[in-house]
Amino acid sequence: MNKTTIRIPFVDLNLQHQPIQRQLEQAIQSVLAQGDFILGQAVSDFETAFAAASGTEYGVGVASGTDAIALGLEACNIGAGDEVILPANTFVATLIGVLRVGAKPVFVDCDRQTALIDLEAAARAITPRTKAIIPVHLYGQMVSPRQLLDFAKTYKLLIFEDAAQAHLAQRDGYRAGAVGIAAAFSFYPSKNLGAFGDGGMLLTKDSNIAQKMLRLRNYGSTQKYLHIESGTNSRLDTLQAAVLREKLPHLPKWNSDRLSIAQQYDLELLPLASAGIVPMQNHSGTGHVYHLYVIRVDDSCPLERQQIQDKLTALGIQTGIHYPIPCHLQPAFTNLGYQLGDFPQAEKLAKQILSLPMYPGLSNSQIREVVTAIASILSSEKQQLLYI
Ligand SMILES: *Cc1c(COP(=O)(O)O)cnc(C)c1O
Repeated sequence: MNKTTIRIPFVDLNLQHQPIQRQLEQAIQSVLAQGDFILGQAVSDFETAFAAASGTEYGVGVASGTDAIALGLEACNIGAGDEVILPANTFVATLIGVLRVGAKPVFVDCDRQTALIDLEAAARAITPRTKAIIPVHLYGQMVSPRQLLDFAKTYKLLIFEDAAQAHLAQRDGYRAGAVGIAAAFSFYPSKNLGAFGDGGMLLTKDSNIAQKMLRLRNYGSTQKYLHIESGTNSRLDTLQAAVLREKLPHLPKWNSDRLSIAQQYDLELLPLASAGIVPMQNHSGTGHVYHLYVIRVDDSCPLERQQIQDKLTALGIQTGIHYPIPCHLQPAFTNLGYQLGDFPQAEKLAKQILSLPMYPGLSNSQIREVVTAIASILSSEKQQLLYI
């Protein structure tokens, strides 16, 4: 075996769980003692707590972020005959949610500096059938709520937030999940707030949408064996809710750790700007919750993103790419009729972006080690160029 030892992992969940391990075990134990595994007390407690923390009214826990999108769109009466605008450079689950309700996904390009949806491009994609826009608060930064609300008002559209990467993010005085008619969150383990398995939630201020969501996740029923509409089985497990409820009070601190780490990366990476290493821009001050810390390996860099990633891996530094293939170029969705060249910014970013290690507990010296490694990879390339 010739496997490099990992010096700096991409994420380390143990660092956040160890200090509160006893409380987490107790939370799990108490569910075992109660035996209320399905829609138990911890589910409604956590729904209330997460909705309040996000500055909105109702939370409905479901089995995953993907279900929060698909069932949430259905609860908002978005479906067949409707067009839904979404960014091409999102995780595929955003698209899958739209397809599951039978609506037509309409992709738009993104801004190169932030990777967030380009609202001017979105305006050009509107047709008489456009019903909603799904802003994806990508990497932990919200799409500007002020611009979004203006946009939605001008074109009379619904805003359905994909906030799977943006728990407690803020911008323009709004919190993620409190901007649109509804918002979907994921509690996949590595998200800013993660369960010990899958989980998701829909947040909304609208009690009718919340009521409908409660039915949809539970076979279309709120009263046992009475079904006034169809639905599915997609509930947040009581065990997961108990874990999430225990972790929620720690989230502001974890998010502020992420912000400090990002600020240090920004600072340390500054000298590499002239070599074409450019961090994604933060346009939301302290409200960015840095689910991911993403740099761009620009055209001016002597190396390709892939070469840099491979060399970092060889040095024991794990990185990621979010995401290497934009949705419109995924083999599964060629039937949507898009092709290479349709979204130049998204396509270019897919080739240039690199996500660096980011998690609460990542130390100053580790951040420095990552940046030093990138710098040395670049300078050895420069040396080689000089000696050719
Ligand atoms: C994680 C994620 C999802 C899907 O969440 P799951 O819980 O994995 O189903 C949707 N959208 C975005 C942007 C995500 O990052």
